[in-house]
Amino acid sequence: MASDPKTIPQSGLLSAEASQAAALAAYGGVLTVDLDAIIANWRKLEKTAVPAECSAVIKADAYGCGAAEVARALSKAGCKTFFVATIEEARKVRAAVPEPTIYVLSGYFQNTGEHYAKINCRPVIGDLNELAEWDVFCRRTGWTGGAAVHIDTGMNRLGLTLAEAQAIIPRINAGDHGITLVMSHLVSAEQLNSPVNARQLAAFRGIASEFSGVPAALANSSGIFLGAPFQFDMVRPGAALYGVNPTPEADNPMQQVVDLKARIVQIRTIERGETVGYGGTWTARRPTKLAIIAVGYADGYFRAASSNDGTRGAEVIVAGKRCPVAGRISMDLIAIDITDLPPNAARRGHMVTLLGEGITVDELAHHFGTIGYEVLTSLGRRYARLYKGGNIVEPVTKPAAAQAVEQPPSPPSIEQPASPPPLRS
Ligand SMILES: *Cc1c(COP(=O)(O)O)cnc(C)c1O
Repeated sequence: MASDPKTIPQSGLLSAEASQAAALAAYGGVLTVDLDAIIANWRKLEKTAVPAECSAVIKADAYGCGAAEVARALSKAGCKTFFVATIEEARKVRAAVPEPTIYVLSGYFQNTGEHYAKINCRPVIGDLNELAEWDVFCRRTGWTGGAAVHIDTGMNRLGLTLAEAQAIIPRINAGDHGITLVMSHLVSAEQLNSPVNARQLAAFRGIASEFSGVPAALANSSGIFLGAPFQFDMVRPGAALYGVNPTPEADNPMQQVVDLKARIVQIRTIERGETVGYGGTWTARRPTKLAIIAVGYADGYFRAASSNDGTRGAEVIVAGKRCPVAGRISMDLIAIDITDLPPNAARRGHMVTLLGEGITVDELAHHFGTIGYEVLTSLGRRYARLYKGGNIVEPVTKPAAAQAVEQPPSPPSIEQPASPPPLRS
């Protein structure tokens, strides 16, 4: 892993900054995830939902931000419950955080019981056959780790119908039922005035009240902002933790989490009338200066953000100014029109900003023709990845002497805030 900028050996000849810069030069782009911003976002959501418990949805590698890193940071901040999509995701999260409850949204499937027991996580069960199979596993092995029941209130994706949910109420009333959470999922939570919200709320409130003693959860990120009645005992934010606006009809209350920079690999000037990139779809209307950067659609910067003679594409920030994409986004490269910058403001080797400095995930989503969720989960695997922050001083609950003995081993280097790379822009 010598190519990992976080673990590159110190050569002794170079300063720490210089060796990190040397390591980063092997990459076309640098993705920095701000764990402190994720923690601040979680705290804000927790405050908004109090007294409900605030869990964290970290499926799809924490929406591209790194499930292990995010779980560690949020767990230290006080998050007690995590949701992932698959058992394999749960395994990685469990390796990072031994204590918290982990729910697996895709539920129970034949022969997965041992996996659940081995890493102590819980299936979210959304079908009566699935529940019966889970019960068989629990009876056979004596496993009592618990499971959530998902009830469908309009999504028609996963979950028991209301009638099916009704049918298991006697079991709840009999006690010792092994159901640790009852949940449903909102269809249009980001649309404040959608009548579906009130319908789902009424349906869920009715059925959840019959699961006596079982905590209930309905709200995703946007659902939290629909108000207290939607918050029940637990809320399940995902996207908002990572900076996506949960209230698209208003200003974004969340902090930006992801910063993405790319290196300028060449500066060139072209004549008026020349075209740029595949298909020659963008024509210079004046003598034009271009910066070619080393990121492309293979890095999750969608080709849909290309520009042509009729349409403007996305913008990137070069030397502090917004500059437009020129022509088609290629697999590994993008051309940027930097004609309007002062001479020498941008040079080969400088870094430009694709996300950050005012360019939000939601803005990129607009240019990509999608939503912030897909921008984040599409973030490429080719970037150097750096983590910032996430080191929380845990509340002192033990006498200092006892604490000194029980100090955990020093955290892996990934948790140490890599000193920010010497990026020039
Ligand atoms: C993904 C997911 C969430 C989180 O949704 P966001 O809109 O990202 O906050 C919550 N609950 C369930 C069931 C989900 O699948």
